[in-house]
Parts: sequence; C-alpha cells; structure tokens
Amino acid sequence: MQYGTVSRLVYGIRHCRFRFNFGRMILRGYKVLALESSCDDSCIALLEKKGLQITVIDEVKKTLNSQKFGGIVPTEAYEFHQRVIGPTVHEFCKKNQLDTNPPDIICCTRGPGMVGSLSVSLQLAKGLSVAWNKPLIGVHHMLGHTLIPKLESDELQYPFLSLLASGGHTMLVHLKSVSEHEVLVDTCDIAVGDSLDKCARELGIEGNILGKEMERYVNSIDESTRQRFESISTFSRDNEFNFKLSLPMRGPSMKAVPGNIQFSFAPFLSTIKHFKQNNYMDEKTRQFIAYKTQQFLFRHVIDRVNVALEKHGVKQGRVMGDGTLKGVKQLVFSGGVASNRLFRSMLQQELKLHFLDTDIEFQFPSVTWCTDNAVMIGVAGIEIFEQLQVRSDLGIMPIRKWPMSELINVGGWVPMEESEVRKIVNSNM
Ligand code: ZN
Repeated sequence: MQYGTVSRLVYGIRHCRFRFNFGRMILRGYKVLALESSCDDSCIALLEKKGLQITVIDEVKKTLNSQKFGGIVPTEAYEFHQRVIGPTVHEFCKKNQLDTNPPDIICCTRGPGMVGSLSVSLQLAKGLSVAWNKPLIGVHHMLGHTLIPKLESDELQYPFLSLLASGGHTMLVHLKSVSEHEVLVDTCDIAVGDSLDKCARELGIEGNILGKEMERYVNSIDESTRQRFESISTFSRDNEFNFKLSLPMRGPSMKAVPGNIQFSFAPFLSTIKHFKQNNYMDEKTRQFIAYKTQQFLFRHVIDRVNVALEKHGVKQGRVMGDGTLKGVKQLVFSGGVASNRLFRSMLQQELKLHFLDTDIEFQFPSVTWCTDNAVMIGVAGIEIFEQLQVRSDLGIMPIRKWPMSELINVGGWVPMEESEVRKIVNSNM
C-alpha cells in the first residue's frame, strides 16, 4: 500500500467514513474465529460478541515442548505449527459445527513474531476467509495482550497504560485509542521473560517454561529462609554468598530522568554467569541467587516505569512531568510474566502513582489469559472491527517486527463497506 493510500485510510478512519453505531446494536450477536501461532503455541478460539459482552464459546491451545532444545528453535516451532494446526482446527470446526454455521469474522495474528510460525495460521485463516466468504482481520499480537481485560470487564477506557511483560516483549505503552499507541519504555536488549528463562537455566532449574519453574522454585523456599534472604544486601559482595546484584541503569549518572527510558535485562544473566565462573554454588546459594534475581528483575521493571511516570505524569517530581499521561485511570498488566503473583503484588506496592492526576485502577487479566492465546486475538479483532471498521486484504504478509505505534500505518487494511458491517452485526437476525 502506498503512503497516499495509507493516509487516506487513516483520514477516512478518523473523519469522513460512515460509522456504524454499535451502541444501538444491543442484542444481536456475531461470532469470531481467532487463530494465533506467533511463537510456540498453536491456538484457536471461537468468541461471541453480544451487546457489550464478549463470551468465549470454545478455545484450544497446544504448546511445543522445547525442553530438549534448551529454548525455542524457530524451525522446530514452524514444523510444530504445520503438524498441529490443521488437525486442531479441523477438529475444532467439527466440534463447534462451523461447517454449517460459520463464524462472521476470521481473526489471526499477523505479527510481531517468528515469520514461519506466523505464516502457518495466517495462511489457514486466509483459506477459511475465502471458503466461508467472511472478512479477515490481521491482528497485532501485543494489542491482544493489551485489550484482553475487555473479555472480563467492559470498563477498560482510553486513555490507559499497558505494561506488557512476556518472553518476547517488555514495554510500557500509552494507548490513546485502538490505533494510537505510544511506547514509553522498551527493552534495549532482551525481554524480562527471556532473561528469567535464561537465568533459570544457568541456575540449573529444569522444565519447559523455565520462568514458571523459577517462580515455583522460589516459592518452595521456606518462609524463614526467605525472610533471612530479604535482610541480606547484595549492594556489594560483602555477604555470606559473595553475590553482588544491583538494579541496571541506576548509577550516579542516571539520577536525572533520561530522554529515552529503557529496560535492560541482559545484565542479570551476565551476573549469574560471572558468579558461576568464580564460585561454587551449593543449594542454599542457588536459592539465594534465584530469590534475588527474580525480585530484582521485577524491581528493575517497576523502577523504569516509575521514571516514566515521573517524566510523563502531571505532578511535581524532581522535574515537572510533561503531562502526557493526563487522564489515565487504568493500568493493564499482561503477558506471560504478568501471571507471576509476586510481580503483581510488587507492582501494586511500589509504583509511584502520585505522579498521575487520578487514582489508578489495576487490571490484572486472569492468569489463563496472560500467556499467549487466541482469545486475546479475537478480542483485539473485535475492537479493530468495531472501532475502525476495517478488514485485512487477503494478500497480507506476516510482520516480524511491528511497532505498536504503526498499527494502521502498515499496508493491507481495507475500509469495510456499510453493507459488509451490517451483514456481520445482523448475522443472527
Ligand atoms: Zn505474547
């Protein structure tokens, strides 16, 4: 799509096209089939939107076991999706009688993610869209994580903040509308979940989802030992474990609010590798390092978010905030790592919300919907359909790197005709 077409589309979305009034469409429901295979999960879901309510009719998730590879290998994930998604979707369609009663919209993750993995479900989604003659919507994966609270509550209101913490991404995003996003903090190296996985592997913790195993390992430490660990400082090596760990980007030169606020999670892994080269690690030491590493990884996220709140808030800090976050009332915390209960409680206790002008309500999606799933892709697809009234061209390609701020400014969006929208929302008349 040429730039002129993009700007006409954006202008059309914002200003002059017809807008179907979904507020009047109260009782008639429409069904959405969603597919997701951006990483190592093959997922499918069937949702119904009726009035303001989104209901999950059915959903399936199958995950590649990468334990023997020591991490996700893109070619293995690609082959896994190829083997799994066809039979899974076939079974799913039969079970939900979609052959005689097809859904009204097909949604599928278009990016970001591993291109091979993404292409498997995108090709299948295009096939279903052609076979059933239903519109296709190519969804941004992170928009799915961000909008999933809409499944459980219809009270998510723009503008809001979204903190995404997963194996592939760690970012703080300011969402002004479904298509206007500003990434306020991003990682300069790896994602928090990736760092957790790699640190766990260095510590000899085993399992398929290592970050989860690390959480389980730390939770298995008895309470009195944890309290003792809590009282031990890692500011220097001068402790019984000879272990030093501090928060990245907190040196004396970093006191001022930086122009570009970033996370950095690679130093945690280097610290453990360096420790192992020079020290023997008995079980107590392993426990101590796991405990402190998990806690400091989360504290680093909170620390950088606090800097962003100070910079973009409205109240007086060390410097006056620029007011970007004026009117923000909610913070969504989602992504695979956001299911960690310690992380959730630290976030609630340690965020400096006094930099904002209103009370903040935390939105913690159910743990089931924090990890990758197709339901969130369906929820985001519904939002794109209702707010923007666009569908995807059948020639769209998967997008490996897709900044959230560029949701609409990529090729492949087609404005929907009024008759097309009416056909969907009146489908059960
Ligand atoms: Zn994800």
